[in-house]
Amino acid sequence: MIQESLSFHVNEEGYYGDFGGAFIPEMLYPNVEELRQNYLKIMSDPAFQAEFHALLKDYVGRPTPLFKAERLSAKYGTNIYLKREDLCHTGAHKVNNTIGQILVAKRLGKHKIVAETGAGQHGVATATVCALMGMECIVYMGAIDIERQAPNVARMRMLGAEVVAAKSGSQTLKDATNEAMRHWINHPVDTHYIIGSVVGPHPYPDMVAKFQSVISEEIKVQLMEKEGRDYPDYVIACVGGGSNAAGAFYHYLDEPRTALIAAEAAGQGVSTGHSAATTFLGKPGVLHGSKSLLMQTEDGQVIEPYSISAGLDYPGIGPMHAHLATSGRAKFYDITDEEALEGAVECSRLEGIIPALESAHAFAVLGKLGAGADEVVVINLSGRGDKDLATYQKRLKLND
Ligand SMILES: *Cc1c(COP(=O)(O)O)cnc(C)c1O
Repeated sequence: MIQESLSFHVNEEGYYGDFGGAFIPEMLYPNVEELRQNYLKIMSDPAFQAEFHALLKDYVGRPTPLFKAERLSAKYGTNIYLKREDLCHTGAHKVNNTIGQILVAKRLGKHKIVAETGAGQHGVATATVCALMGMECIVYMGAIDIERQAPNVARMRMLGAEVVAAKSGSQTLKDATNEAMRHWINHPVDTHYIIGSVVGPHPYPDMVAKFQSVISEEIKVQLMEKEGRDYPDYVIACVGGGSNAAGAFYHYLDEPRTALIAAEAAGQGVSTGHSAATTFLGKPGVLHGSKSLLMQTEDGQVIEPYSISAGLDYPGIGPMHAHLATSGRAKFYDITDEEALEGAVECSRLEGIIPALESAHAFAVLGKLGAGADEVVVINLSGRGDKDLATYQKRLKLND
């Protein structure tokens, strides 16, 4: 049950319960402060809302359908709907946020964009909107990720972005983020930094959650049409940093009849040392500008996460989700690589939809949920599986 006194929304200081805030080097302060002072004003301007929603409609393809998955429903003896974020332009929910942020950047008078990317999905969504708006785009990416994610590097370059290799540390997402922040410090006047999830210093988690909240705004209208009530009994989403989950949960945060269900990547299992299940393994700490749960050693060194799915392979989690987990408002499941693969096969064969590996983690929760025959379940299908075909081919032996 939800305790009356608990708030799940950000407060004035940028906190969700004990988590959030802005822990940034002094040199970054002017940039973040400029954004903090202006983001709500910009976003609530009717002209901004009109431009944002027009682009979501005609460029991204919103509203995305809410599809009744009949065969999955029959299998699990309940009523399962899929929110089809996989049908967004660029194949995932990430573009909802990059569209919003580039419009904020424009209104702040910025004409250059910097971003970090791990698997390349956020880099592609950022390069896409930069091309759309004619803005210069620099994407920092770990040198190892550049090797591993060649197709997305090619996509970003095709879209006109400059992809810069981060060669420090482990040469992955964490290092790319550090270098993108350094770039922003050195170019504070003309550049906006587009963060790709509900992470980073305040106001990023709140701003990104608000842009992604279009997902649950649409679910409410669509469920009302199909079920005669605007809330589901369960809404399920996978959580890496937590942006698609934040969007799917947003308008149900204060709805006690809706259980919020998050699927985290357990990798090979939470106790194997090869995992990314932050709410199970993490402790409070500061990463990338905010206080949250973080996978770390006794002396506070970040532990390298592992997941089969590049988009969930992150050692932290957004502060909103840290609060939802520790307060008990959301229930978190740890889903292994194997379970996610089974979820992907099931969605593909029962519904004719190949999900992203990230989204497949959400499907794997269905068997653990115990939803009833008159209950309604919404799964946020965050992205399509084309980008994961090589992994599916290999792990499911599709070519043997
Ligand atoms: C990036 C990505 C995720 C994970 O990011 P969140 O911020 O946790 O949503 C999930 N699904 C897909 C398809 C992605 O591309």
